[in-house]
Amino acid sequence: MPPDARPRLTVLSGPSGVGKSTVVAHMRKEHPEVWLSVSATTRKPRPGEEHGVHYFFVTDEEMDKMIANGELLEWAEFAGNRYGTPRAAVLEHLEAGVPVLLEIDLQGARQVRESMPEGQLVFLAPPSWEELVRRLTGRGTEPPEVIERRLQAARTELAAEPEFDRTLVNTSVEDVARELLALMGVV
Ligand code: ADP
Ligand code: 5GP
Repeated sequence: MPPDARPRLTVLSGPSGVGKSTVVAHMRKEHPEVWLSVSATTRKPRPGEEHGVHYFFVTDEEMDKMIANGELLEWAEFAGNRYGTPRAAVLEHLEAGVPVLLEIDLQGARQVRESMPEGQLVFLAPPSWEELVRRLTGRGTEPPEVIERRLQAARTELAAEPEFDRTLVNTSVEDVARELLALMGVV
């Protein structure tokens, strides 16, 4: 496949706690040229999360406005909060030929499949259900009832794996980051 025929838009999805943020952070440390879209969310920041870096942390009213103005490429409600991808920045980077990565949930991935079918959808799967529970619980960022909601969503997300173009199993962060870079045509 010639380099310019490679898909430039990649969507990474997978259940909460599978390791998406960890893999993406590892990948970008070595390849900062990959552009990761910064989503808007109504969720409150976790310790260490910065506005404009990890997310744009917005109010419900601000999210309403972004949706009404058509500013979001896709958006979804996930485990009690809303999340969405600002459209303009994604299109600008794609037009500039920059490899673009979206880290979004299943509902968002389905919307991108509809609106930008040229994008490739990559599913990040856990080595096992038990390991997913261990990672989500071990992260220690959510109270038990939120973990429960996220595990419920995880069952639906895992069942949707066949909808994706590729599946990567997150056993080793280094291996998965390398595989993802290869899929994006970066290495
Ligand atoms: P997500 O972004 O998918 O919700 P995170 O990146 O926050 O998941 O990872 C959830 C937890 O799992 C974190 O504590 C992270 O350190 C850990 N983790 C991620 N990848 C691996 C891996 N390959 N092996 C073991 N632990 C991992
Ligand atoms: P978290 O609260 O753990 O950061 O994210 C929860 C879920 O929301 C994850 O599955 C994450 O991929 C997803 N998510 C983050 N940003 C977006 C977005 O812009 N759109 C959609 N649809 N999902 C998102």
